[in-house]
Amino acid sequence: MKILIIEDEYSLADAISETLQKEKFGVNIITNGEDGENEALTNIYDLILLDVMLPKKDGFEILANLRKEKVDIPVIMLTAKSEISDKLNGLENGADDYITKPFHMRELIARVKVILKRKTNIQDTNVLEYSDLKLDLVTCKMSVNGSEITINGKELDLLEILLVNKNQIVNREILANKIWGYNSETEYNNVEVYVSFLRKKLKLLKSKVKIKAVRGIGYKLEDENN
Ligand code: CA
Repeated sequence: MKILIIEDEYSLADAISETLQKEKFGVNIITNGEDGENEALTNIYDLILLDVMLPKKDGFEILANLRKEKVDIPVIMLTAKSEISDKLNGLENGADDYITKPFHMRELIARVKVILKRKTNIQDTNVLEYSDLKLDLVTCKMSVNGSEITINGKELDLLEILLVNKNQIVNREILANKIWGYNSETEYNNVEVYVSFLRKKLKLLKSKVKIKAVRGIGYKLEDENN
């Protein structure tokens, strides 16, 4: 489980990071809003801890942009007491939870675990779905309205990663690294090749799902009706 901390108070960010690492979470800290948003949009995290008052871009703007890009990753806002009253409405724009500073690390960990558990329970299934597309990870069959094709190897890996991260852009470097491991530069081409294989299969199954290329970043599943 990997957590992104977007927080400009170094000492607080470090303390949170240390606590999370003791709980065996992977952690990355970004200390300004602009880079934080970019990181959240281009890399894969299980949860984001998002401060409100940040240099360059504030937490509410980042949250709004993440949700606009349909990134449905859980977000816990870290807010100072004074910011709550007028921002509560903003939190309804898609934060999963918020925690008021100062807080006990114990409380933060508890909330992180509750939210991750909720997320994992939802995904605790062998069948991944998006729009009319289903992927059964046990039988390795991708299916649309009852028609099915067996896929395997790297095609299966690729589709699984895209489905697990449906609604967000998956960075092509991350795709290449997850599927081929950290290696040479040729792998971006490999990603493209396998994306084209999957596109053919989606077309064959007459799926509404498209694999959209986001120039310079990566790929994202899209429903042609949206
Ligand atoms: Ca701050």
